[in-house]
Amino acid sequence: MSELAISFEDIRAAQRRLDGVAHRTPVLTSRTADAMCGAQLYFKCENFQRMGAFKFRGAYNAVARLEPARRAAGVVAFSSGNHAQAIALACRLLESHAVIVMPQDAPRSKVAATRHYGGEVVFYDRYREDREALGRRLAAERGLTLIPPYDHPDIMAGQGTAAAELIEAAGPLDTLLVPLGGGGLLSGSALAARALSPGCAVLGVEPEAGDDGRQSLRAGHIVHIATPSTIADGAQTQHLGKHTFPVIAELVTDIVTVSDAQLVAAMAFFAERMKIVVEPTGALAAAAAFGGRLGLTGKRVGVILSGGNIDLTQFAALLASSDAARAG
Ligand SMILES: *Cc1c(COP(=O)(O)O)cnc(C)c1O
Repeated sequence: MSELAISFEDIRAAQRRLDGVAHRTPVLTSRTADAMCGAQLYFKCENFQRMGAFKFRGAYNAVARLEPARRAAGVVAFSSGNHAQAIALACRLLESHAVIVMPQDAPRSKVAATRHYGGEVVFYDRYREDREALGRRLAAERGLTLIPPYDHPDIMAGQGTAAAELIEAAGPLDTLLVPLGGGGLLSGSALAARALSPGCAVLGVEPEAGDDGRQSLRAGHIVHIATPSTIADGAQTQHLGKHTFPVIAELVTDIVTVSDAQLVAAMAFFAERMKIVVEPTGALAAAAAFGGRLGLTGKRVGVILSGGNIDLTQFAALLASSDAARAG
């Protein structure tokens, strides 16, 4: 077996670090969803995690693992999404300092949320500046540690704790469905499933518009694509990571895709039937289960709802567009 970036022991260690800090989020079930799929579905509700997504797990684990001197010097991350807020909150809790590099035109709500958690926001011009270069320059000038959103062993181990909790709560599973962007969540989940529910099939779910993960799994190497156009903004990644890909290639059964329309239909289901807000990226795994093409009949299926951060106006607009589609 090849050397993977992390083992299940790293996930166990992350669980101990997160104990009493991260929420042990609920596992919800729905008779309606079960009837729709002819299966028993267990929804791991990371939309109820601190800051609204599982990203808090990896971010906290990574900042907690820094040596005291580096932690005191601070951290830099580039993201306008959930990773930024997760790093900002983790740094506040661990008495570090977070510098978040964001585009000038990032949604105001995201900028406000990052500042609310104590993060220092540094803007860049997305048409004229390279955010990675800016992040590296800030790191060098100010002695900050760069923490990437997925391709990092401590991030992967932290993200794996959500699936570990799900299996501990629901019992052994036949299938586990996991949203896929850069693969931090999927790689950690696959390691947790192998250790705690051997024989469980683990499927990654990505947007139809950006199926680089599926292409990579088929090709046996990391395939790069242009930034995909999809409402699943947490999965607009262009490629898997050098740490996440080998784990996915070795342990993940398959990668499937869903359309934006399927994401909106799943979000509407969660709001209407289960009274919960799930963001588009957070609905990837559920949309695949509802799609009915995975052969889930009679199975025990874990579904990770990875996050719930969405502007209410955007949420309403998406649901209205799906109403229009249903009516028309
Ligand atoms: C980041 C994110 C993902 C994708 O996670 P990766 O580790 O990049 O694969 C899925 N859902 C939500 C809500 C996210 O924020």
